[in-house]
Amino acid sequence: MEAPAMRQASGTSAVNPGKGVLRPLATAAVKITGGLLAQWQQRNRTATIPHSLTELRKSGNLENFRTIINGNGLDFVGRYPFLDTDIYKTLEGLVYELARDGASELLEERDFYEEAVELIVGAQSANGYLSTYYQNPTTGKEAWSDLTWGHELYNLGHLIQAAVAAKRQLGDDRLLEVARHFADHAFETFGPDGIEQVCGHPEVEMALVELSRETGCPNYLELATLFIDRRGRGLVELNHFPAEYFQDNHPLRELPSVTGHAVRMGYLAAGAADVAAETADTTLFASLERLWQDMVNSKLYITGGLGSRHSDEAIGDRYELPSERSYSETCAAISIMQWGWRMFLATADTRYIDVFETVLYNAYAVGLSLEGTKFFYDNPLQRRGDHEQRSGAETDGDLLRRSWFGCPCCPPNVIRWMSELQDYIAVEKQDSLFIANYATATIRSGTMAVDMKANYPWDGNVLTTVTEAPEGEFMLAFRVPAWAKGATLAVNDEAAVEVGSGWAQVEREWRTGDRVQLVVPMVVSAHISHPHLDATRGSAAVVRGPLVYCAEQQDNETSVDDLIIDSAGVAQARTLDAAAPSLSSTPALGADVVTLTMPVRVAEAADAELYPLLGHSGTDTVFTPGTATLVPYFLWGNRQAQPMRVWLRTY
Ligand SMILES: [Zn+2]
Repeated sequence: MEAPAMRQASGTSAVNPGKGVLRPLATAAVKITGGLLAQWQQRNRTATIPHSLTELRKSGNLENFRTIINGNGLDFVGRYPFLDTDIYKTLEGLVYELARDGASELLEERDFYEEAVELIVGAQSANGYLSTYYQNPTTGKEAWSDLTWGHELYNLGHLIQAAVAAKRQLGDDRLLEVARHFADHAFETFGPDGIEQVCGHPEVEMALVELSRETGCPNYLELATLFIDRRGRGLVELNHFPAEYFQDNHPLRELPSVTGHAVRMGYLAAGAADVAAETADTTLFASLERLWQDMVNSKLYITGGLGSRHSDEAIGDRYELPSERSYSETCAAISIMQWGWRMFLATADTRYIDVFETVLYNAYAVGLSLEGTKFFYDNPLQRRGDHEQRSGAETDGDLLRRSWFGCPCCPPNVIRWMSELQDYIAVEKQDSLFIANYATATIRSGTMAVDMKANYPWDGNVLTTVTEAPEGEFMLAFRVPAWAKGATLAVNDEAAVEVGSGWAQVEREWRTGDRVQLVVPMVVSAHISHPHLDATRGSAAVVRGPLVYCAEQQDNETSVDDLIIDSAGVAQARTLDAAAPSLSSTPALGADVVTLTMPVRVAEAADAELYPLLGHSGTDTVFTPGTATLVPYFLWGNRQAQPMRVWLRTY
C-alpha cells in the first residue's frame, strides 16, 4: 500500500498547553539514543508493536470497522463497546514510530496504519458519530442510549489523541478530520445546548482540550470544561456499580480523596488539569493539588501503583494497600503519569516528576514482560506460592503475564506511552532548559543543544555536554529527586557542589563543549510504612534510586517469606550485575541490570500458631544468618511462577 504524501509535521509533543510555567519540547527535539529507555523504545518497535498488531488482527478489532463499511450484517466481534480504542491507542503509538528515523523499514506497521485509517474514515456516520459497537445493527443498540457503559465518548477521546498525534508527528490530518467531525457531533449533542450528561468513563476531557490546542477551536475546551463540571452531580445512571466508581459522588472540586475506578480517576484528574491550565481555573487546580497530595500520602503503592481492590478495579480507603491483592492496573499507572506531567508543566514542581519517575520504573514498567510480548493487567507486590495469579477479571490463561486480553486496554496503552517517552524528558521556558528525566539523549531547545549521557537508573552519573550554545546567558536546570541525598553538580573542571532536591540550576554564557556533571548517588535504602498501613506493618521495602526491589524465590535458597532484613543489612547491600554467580539461575534479565545482595536473618518458626497470644515471646523462632538476593521489581515474573515479595519481614 502506498503511503500518502505527508504534509509538514509540527512535531509537537503529546501534551502542549498554551499556558503554564513550562513549555514541552517538540518531539523531534529529544532523541533517546541509549540506556534503559532506548532499550524499551527499541523493544516496543521490534517486539511489542508487531505482536500487538497480530493480536489486534486476530481479535477482529479492524473487522468491526469493515463490518460497518460493508454493511454485511456480521456480528460485532468482542465483548466490549470500547474495542475501537485498542486500535486508536495503537495508532497513537505507531505514528511516533513512523515519524522516527529509520521508519522506512516499518513496512507492516505502515500497512496497518494505512488500513486502519482507511477503515476509520470509511466507518464514520454522516453525522460524525463513530462507534462500531453501536453502529452495528446486530447489537440492537441506539447511539448514546447507555452513557454509563457505552464508552462512546471514551472512544472519541482515544480517537482524538491518535488523530492529534498523527497530525503532529506525520502531518497527516485524515484522522483529525474524523475526530473533529465526531467531536463537533458530541458538542452538538452534549454541549451547552445539548443533553446534560457525562460518559461513564472519563478520558475524552484531556483529549478535547488537546484537540482545542491543536485546532484553536474553543468549542472542544468548552465541552471538556462542561464534562468536568457536570461530573459528581449524580448524572451517571447507576445499575451495578456505585457513583464513586464513576467519580460521580462529589464534584471534582469537592471530592475528599481520589476514589472509585482507578483508571477513571486518573484520566479524569489529567483532563481536569488540562482544563484548569487552559481556563486559569485556580480553584480547580487547587483541588487537583490537594487530591494529588492526598493520593501520594495515603493511597499510592510504593511502586506508584494505584488501585487496591480487584472488586470494581477500585482505589481503596486511605492506607488500604494490600500487597498480594494490589490491583495497580497498568493503565492506572499511565494515568498517574499523565496527571503528574500536566501538574508539573503548570507548576515546574519537581515533586510531580519524582512520582512520575517512580511510576515509570515500577508500576508501569512491570506491566510488560522482558521480551515485550506479554502483559500484566493488574500488578501485585507479592505472589504467594499457592496463588494462581490471573490477570484482571479474566479467569483463564497464563499464571503470570499474558499475550492479550478479552479486555485489552493495557497493551496498546503501554505501546503509546513507550513511543512517547521522549516527550517527557525535558521542558523549556525563556532561555532555560529543564531536564526532568534522565537518559542518554540529545536535546535541543532553540539554539541550545546538549548531549546527555546517563546509564540511568542503574547509575546516577549524568554527563551533559553542550553541543551548540546560544548567544547570551542561558539556564540549564537538572531535577534532583527528593530521594537523592548528597547529589552533586559540577560545571567543567570547577569543584562539585552539593545540591538539594528540586532544581539544580546553572545560568551562564555557555560554549560548545561545556560540561555539566550531575551525580545522583544510587544508595540502597529501605522504607517502612505508615503506622495505619496494616498490610505492610513490620515489613520493609528495599529501593535503590527510583527502583523498588523485590525478592523472587528463584534467587533465594530459603523461602522469601522467611527473609528478615534490618537497616544494618541494607546498609551492607552490595550490587551485583545479573551475570553474578549467585544469580546463575537467572537467565539474563537484561544488560546493565543491577541486582542486590545483602545479609539477612532467616527465620525458622517451629510449630508457629496462626494467632499466638499477645505477649508471646516468639522464642520458638530460630534465626540463622543468610543472604537475600533482590531484583528490580519491574523485572519480576519473567521466569517461572514462584513466590515474590516487595515487602520483606523485619521480624
Ligand atoms: Zn488497562
